[in-house]
Amino acid sequence: MSFYNHLIVPTLQTETEAETQKQDASDNNVWYFRGSDTAAKASSVMMMRVIVYKLFDLCSPEVKKTLLPLGHGDPAVYPCFRTSIHVENAVVDVIRSGKGNSYGPAAGILPARQKLKQFRKHCRYDYHNPNNPCGNVYSHDHLKKVADTARKLGILVIADEVYRETIYGDNPNFVPMGKFSSIAPVITLGSISKGWIVPGWRIGWIALNDPRGVLKSAGVAQSIQQNIDINPDVTTVFQFALPEILEKSTKETFAEKNLILKQNVELVCDRHRLRNIPCVVCTKKPESCTYLLAKLELPLMEDIEDDMDFCMKLAKEENLVLLPGVALGLKNWIRITIGVEAQMLEDALERLNGFCKPNAI
Ligand SMILES: *Cc1c(COP(=O)(O)O)cnc(C)c1O
Repeated sequence: MSFYNHLIVPTLQTETEAETQKQDASDNNVWYFRGSDTAAKASSVMMMRVIVYKLFDLCSPEVKKTLLPLGHGDPAVYPCFRTSIHVENAVVDVIRSGKGNSYGPAAGILPARQKLKQFRKHCRYDYHNPNNPCGNVYSHDHLKKVADTARKLGILVIADEVYRETIYGDNPNFVPMGKFSSIAPVITLGSISKGWIVPGWRIGWIALNDPRGVLKSAGVAQSIQQNIDINPDVTTVFQFALPEILEKSTKETFAEKNLILKQNVELVCDRHRLRNIPCVVCTKKPESCTYLLAKLELPLMEDIEDDMDFCMKLAKEENLVLLPGVALGLKNWIRITIGVEAQMLEDALERLNGFCKPNAI
């Protein structure tokens, strides 16, 4: 499995385990229990992960090229995207203090909730509100129209702002959806996964922007509370570390990572790299997030049926994994992760070129 190197591989079994289990399988028919297919059905809904793992399985050492995993969006494995030292120290300090050793309240510990409130208020007009996968950042007018429409339809707005710290485009003005909560109620989602590049820490938050108490009187606030009651709590250690993580984070905390992403986008778009590749067209340069969306010009390609077919052949022939758009409801597009080391991106473009040229009509 050294082939997969630094990847978190989609397998629960070591090869030795699999071998032993094959040998023991003969007496397995004496048991009266078996796994249900409910989970199998539910997990097939998780299209993205399932598809990426399927593509990994098509890669092989016989191709004699390193595996380039540009299908999933977690940059945390690369040293250039390592989180800030103050973020790591915050967690270490909590562990050493013993403060995080207990169960916490379902809604989260008070110091973390208070700090979040302060932090979000403080940076309200400083940062952005971005879209995965196209990397767009929405304008004030666009968001106001969303709120007006929601009001007309009598619905609430759920604003996923997990990428608000990951903006590197030319317009630095992020408008939080919560700003329009007097028009329609807004539920804002946030997380430290992307901005601080620690998705493995599993800590995020929900903020209700509800100045008129609509969510409360409709019972939505209560439903959220009840869901939180039955869900596993966020680790107390990270909850206690959160106030310090937020407090010590400044624009500089995110600047370095965002500069790398900006340079990676330039590498793909501006230095003509993607434009020289036939059949793959980037229609808009991303301004945020860690992805680049490109359209496949299928009529120009021989023997390629659709985006899934393209990605499967690419994985098989080039050991390069990209996400087919179908996983995101965007048939015949592909999503390339730019949250990787620049050299990997260079290699990926070279292989993409080598793959597309012979297939181009
Ligand atoms: C990654 C991602 C999330 C989930 O973040 P976690 O806090 O790690 O669960 C939510 N929304 C978008 C758009 C994302 O890309």
